[in-house]
Amino acid sequence: MSLAERDHNVIWHPYTQMKTAALPVPIVRGEGALLFSEDGRTYIDAVASWWVNLHGHAHPYIAQKVAEQLHTLEHVIFAGFTHPAAVTFAERLLQILPRGQCRIFYSDNGSTAVEVALKMAIQYWNNQGTPKKKIIAFRDSYHGDTFGAMAVSARSAFTAPFWSFLFEVAFVDVPVSGKEEETVKQLEALARGGDIAAFIYEPLVLGTAGMVMYSPQVLDQLVEICQQHDILTIADEVMTGFGRTGRTFASDYLQHKPDMVCLSKGLTGGTMALGATSASEKVYQAFLHDDKSKTLFHGHSYTANPVACAAGLASLDLLLKEETQQDIARIQQQHKTFAQEIQALSHVKEVRQQGTILAVEFEDGATSYFSDLRDTLYSYGMDQGVLLRPLGNIIYIIPPYCITKAQLEQVYQTIRGMQEVVSGQKQHPRPDLTMLHD
Ligand SMILES: *Cc1c(COP(=O)(O)O)cnc(C)c1O
Repeated sequence: MSLAERDHNVIWHPYTQMKTAALPVPIVRGEGALLFSEDGRTYIDAVASWWVNLHGHAHPYIAQKVAEQLHTLEHVIFAGFTHPAAVTFAERLLQILPRGQCRIFYSDNGSTAVEVALKMAIQYWNNQGTPKKKIIAFRDSYHGDTFGAMAVSARSAFTAPFWSFLFEVAFVDVPVSGKEEETVKQLEALARGGDIAAFIYEPLVLGTAGMVMYSPQVLDQLVEICQQHDILTIADEVMTGFGRTGRTFASDYLQHKPDMVCLSKGLTGGTMALGATSASEKVYQAFLHDDKSKTLFHGHSYTANPVACAAGLASLDLLLKEETQQDIARIQQQHKTFAQEIQALSHVKEVRQQGTILAVEFEDGATSYFSDLRDTLYSYGMDQGVLLRPLGNIIYIIPPYCITKAQLEQVYQTIRGMQEVVSGQKQHPRPDLTMLHD
């Protein structure tokens, strides 16, 4: 039996309709931006394995640091105990995080980093005897798959079965170009209404919504309004953190800084599962009390896992290297040139870029040609040896920073081919997914 068939017998995959999905691609090795499959094929990982990988797969430096940590201390309880990796990593994160962050709370992934921030925000008000009921979020946002994170995310088909279990959230429109004033008005009205604990947002780029982008100027305005009305602000930098937007954090583009920041994905360079929520002095102070009920009662068995922290420290070393910063600048430049070219082509509705993130949105009408454009584009990319996961009619690139100039050119070539498929200049068979199953 092949690995994929063995998988099919025992595994339940994320975001996968197990009845109709094609068999998974068995990956046996990774190196740089490349993934190698069991049957000898090579794929360029143009989506950084779900937006987590920064420096390439199986990076020798991260591997070495992780191995050293494994031989020294693999894990220790983090209540009443500490260890060098957690402390050093927190010190270094606070040095590079947006101004005003003073504490790091570790958890396991992006969703838990968001849960922690929401709990901090809600309890912040409780601890002061002025409980507040509402959270504000962007209508199309995505903050994770646990219940609190789902509650502050878009009410979409993905969460429909759970709607009645999600707490109420006041949604405002994403302030995309031309709609800025509307969002500002919506937020101002909510802020004046009172009873708002916090505003949570994906700064500059809403990933899962389809790499929807908006300007730092309008976000700065929104954060300022929150600060004027004593509303806590939570920057969910789970996707945008660690150089993705061209600066270390998307919040670095703003004058007004958040009260809390959520981190995961690139936090360990894509090596280990780890989440972190940072908090400002103001937030932290609200939990210091002789009354023990004011404690933040939250924690996970693997809080601040030393191996994950070691991976994070190693990834940070690599991120801050001059070569990596040059790679980030080069990717931005390459994207810019390609964006100009592709946006002139037919059936391309919009091209968006923020730093190393590039999104190409095909005409909505294109989807009517193919009932399953997404699957067609995905399978076209895989046939070309390029891993791109379209979000509906939107194709995007979030590469590991080590992707070479030539590899990135190959990704662009694949997107050019996709444009030809969408515009009908090129035929690509609709993937017959059912064939792959008995
Ligand atoms: C991916 C993501 C999350 C959730 O992170 P997980 O590690 O998948 O739980 C939260 N917020 C944003 C902005 C994300 O992109």
